[in-house]
Amino acid sequence: MILSHLKLETEHDMPILRQISQLGHPVLRGVAGKITDPLAPEIQAIIDDLLATAADAQGVGIAAPQVYEPLSLFIMASRPNQRYPSAPVMEPLAVINPEILWVSDEKENGWEGCLSIPGLRGLVPRRLRLGVRYLNREGKVIEGEYNDFPARVFQHEFDHLQGIVFIDRLESTLDLVTEKEYLRRL
Ligand SMILES: [Zn+2]
Repeated sequence: MILSHLKLETEHDMPILRQISQLGHPVLRGVAGKITDPLAPEIQAIIDDLLATAADAQGVGIAAPQVYEPLSLFIMASRPNQRYPSAPVMEPLAVINPEILWVSDEKENGWEGCLSIPGLRGLVPRRLRLGVRYLNREGKVIEGEYNDFPARVFQHEFDHLQGIVFIDRLESTLDLVTEKEYLRRL
């Protein structure tokens, strides 16, 4: 299902900044549906909107349910910014219908935030490495392997497609801090 786009016909080629769904909205708690045709113009438009919205909000990733589209699609766009000063630079990437093929036993704790949960950061345990398969925006099957921060971003965004948010992964509520406090600790 594709929700209405809030676009004017005359603007259909321009990406638009989308409203970001906030914790409590059911769209963040549902399981996203598979995309049958990645090349469909409405899917390509959502990808462009997600890229623009993630860049504008200084996100290192964003999932389609975060813009009210319950679709199995997310963007990874790691780059250093105010919210994640030490993030590595990655070419922004659309990930469609992702699967996690394997994960390392090894886990690591790292700080995460979420555009849908503003003002909070949590220390989240994630697998250090994982193997994945997905379709890129050209509809091509991609198999790859991620380590460290990109692996963390992939797992965070993948969770969004299952209706899971990072606070569900905390081992203790003591691992949750405000963003102000988090930035003070850097
Ligand atoms: Zn998130």
